[in-house]
Amino acid sequence: MAKRFCALCGKTDSPLIENLCFSCFYKKHPPFRVKSEPKIQICPNCFSYKLSKKWMQTDSSNNFEFLEQVIEQALPLFIKHSPEFKISLQPQLSEEIEIKEKIEIPVLITAEKNDIVISETVPVNINLESSPCGRCSKKKRGYFEAILQFRGLRGRISEEERRQVYNIIENFLNQERYKYDYIPQIKEKKQGFDIYVSTIGLAKIIAESVKEYMGANLYESFKLLGMKDGKKKGTTSISVRLPSFSIGEIIQLPDKTLIFEKFEKGNLIGKDLETGKQLTIQHKELWESEIQSWKPETKEYLIISITTNFLQLMDLKTYEIFEIKKEPPHHNLKEGDTIKATKIDEKILILTPEIK
Ligand SMILES: [Zn+2]
Ligand SMILES: [Zn+2]
Repeated sequence: MAKRFCALCGKTDSPLIENLCFSCFYKKHPPFRVKSEPKIQICPNCFSYKLSKKWMQTDSSNNFEFLEQVIEQALPLFIKHSPEFKISLQPQLSEEIEIKEKIEIPVLITAEKNDIVISETVPVNINLESSPCGRCSKKKRGYFEAILQFRGLRGRISEEERRQVYNIIENFLNQERYKYDYIPQIKEKKQGFDIYVSTIGLAKIIAESVKEYMGANLYESFKLLGMKDGKKKGTTSISVRLPSFSIGEIIQLPDKTLIFEKFEKGNLIGKDLETGKQLTIQHKELWESEIQSWKPETKEYLIISITTNFLQLMDLKTYEIFEIKKEPPHHNLKEGDTIKATKIDEKILILTPEIK
């Protein structure tokens, strides 16, 4: 009995299909084919691409990495294979590849079923269409979701405060998390300035940070502009009121008077003028109180003598001599020290050297 053999390679130990062994048959009729040329939209401004409906951001930093990721995602959608085969695709990308409208990439396709392995390198033409992604076109249009309205509690905002605000914003923009955010516009206003912010998320974190470090009071409002896909669309405005105290400023609350030092977690830290002790005024209390504040006029005094209960001071301009009651925080002062003090209601309050 004549043995059946493969018409191509002559193998006899394999079942035959159309007179060919499995291996020769699949070489002739590969179990895969390129369905159509991939068409991919890519953003010219950032490394993102659109394959189906959504723009996808890649984490690449150069064309090679970018195309590698795009092609890896795209290829399986454009190569059809018979389901009983396991398939693997290895695009052969050159490091020097350039982004052009049409690129040809050799792809090593390997199909496996039981012990049959067929691999072939197939050239795949990929069409790349350059078009700005949603995010980049929003940026170009100056789109924003929120406005931060910075206002001074007592009129103008100082250059120093403005610099602090800008620093806070810059710190966030430098973070990985906010790398796609932007500030499309800053508008000067009579009592401050408006900062337009790309997303609500960034606007809120800036506002919270300004509250924490600068004691600002926040008030959020929303202006509805319409509906889109069942969602409210509009602009969020956050009013950011800055208390604008400077170090050494006297702050008068209904029941206490203190010297301003700093803000910590939104709360005001200062020294009680009566006792010299450090006091914390909670953010809420501060903004609900009637406050008066002023920058004290300071004078220099020389400490002439210190007794158990009194300090004797001489005004270094007029040479007038005053006596003030010795308080516990005065314990670190010495005779012969020069101090800076201010007069409130005829009372002399020592501001520097720092009362501990
Ligand atoms: Zn054969
Ligand atoms: Zn883009």
